Amino acid sequence: MTADPLAVYPLGSALDERGRLHLGGVDALEIARRHGTPAYVVVEDDLRAQVRAYREAFHRHAPGSHVSFASKANPCTAVLRVVEQEGLGCDVASGGELALALHAGFAPERIHVHGNAKSEDELAQAVEAGVRHVVLDGLDEVDRLARVARERGRVQPVLVRVTPDVRGETHDGISTGQAESKFGFGLQDARTAIDRIRDHDALRLDGLHFHVGSQLLDLAVFRRAVAAVVPLMDGLDEINLGGGLGVAYTADQAAQLPSVDAYAREKVSAVRDLLGERVRIGDEPGRSLVGRAGVTLYTVQTVKRNVATWVGVDGGMADNLRPMLYDARYEAQIVDRFATDGAAGAVHCRVTGKHCESSDVLVRDAVLDAPASGDVLVTPVTGAYGYAMANTYNGVPRPPVVFVGGGRSWEVVRRERTDELWLRDVAQPAA
Ligand SMILES: *Cc1c(COP(=O)(O)O)cnc(C)c1O
Repeated sequence: MTADPLAVYPLGSALDERGRLHLGGVDALEIARRHGTPAYVVVEDDLRAQVRAYREAFHRHAPGSHVSFASKANPCTAVLRVVEQEGLGCDVASGGELALALHAGFAPERIHVHGNAKSEDELAQAVEAGVRHVVLDGLDEVDRLARVARERGRVQPVLVRVTPDVRGETHDGISTGQAESKFGFGLQDARTAIDRIRDHDALRLDGLHFHVGSQLLDLAVFRRAVAAVVPLMDGLDEINLGGGLGVAYTADQAAQLPSVDAYAREKVSAVRDLLGERVRIGDEPGRSLVGRAGVTLYTVQTVKRNVATWVGVDGGMADNLRPMLYDARYEAQIVDRFATDGAAGAVHCRVTGKHCESSDVLVRDAVLDAPASGDVLVTPVTGAYGYAMANTYNGVPRPPVVFVGGGRSWEVVRRERTDELWLRDVAQPAA
């Protein structure tokens, strides 16, 4: 059996008769030529399809539920606009993300504000905007938000973020549901927070929230999380179940990936079984909404053999921090010569970035067809937490975001210019 070489690529991806990758109906080499590399490419049809899959799955299993996009996964205006147009809400984790969500057109009543260390300014921005929920994350914040709301003559609806003390199967760096976590209230403290909120006229407690972690492929953890918060739900009528569904980064992960429908069914049935029919459900996927829609294009600069074969590209940890942060695994291919392991010309190599860190390795074990300087290389499934974490380490300007669809490509974020690297440098040394 030959594995599908495009198993983890965006919907509608194809290899033409010459073996060249097409994304959204556009030749990937053409995208690289037109917009330069490195470039983040987002296939709009894939993004819309995934947003609709979420909306429809939750609507099917829990009419009246609502789904929000965890905007930190890909905080770019065009992506947020698509999500907004398709009717989802938006979840933000800072004043900056709140401003961006409003800029992208989200009605404040569809925005949820998170954060484990919100500033007073951020709380004030949330209250003044009139967001649907501020998700409370600590006792200090209860009193602070109450004061901020009272001073403005508002009653702010809130949820309490609870740490259900369950552990999903994922990397420690993206696990958030265990008892020892910087996020949320432990089960004991949540009770205290709930009582404290009820003492404040300027706060209205609607329900609870949890988010147990990210890149989860096993759905059983969600039922355990719901079970853990049942004793706290007394008299509350809303529960937000966070996000967390994984994406397949590699073809072998694709086989074990639960569908959006299975994820929604599992979460909703846990709530219905343990909390009854009346409780309103919210969900907030990030990675699984946008991950597969995005790929990154690079140009190979150098190929060298130092024990291993090193394929050096024109990007790296500045445009994709995940391999370094979480040992994330990716696939890679040359866009006009997909390789098959074992075939003539196929070489096992390390795809490495251009940054001055030994651990700047994008793909630890890629199989490429005779890679050479000038080749355009693609890493799939970079739509989540790539652009979001981009930085300018080593003075490398941040890449553009290019949308593709219907045989067209267009930039929705332009490439950063070199002179923007010192744009904020406002003074010279004294001497
Ligand atoms: C990051 C985050 C999400 C989204 O997580 P994914 O794993 O990307 O789906 C949802 N809710 C909260 C509170 C988050 O911090």
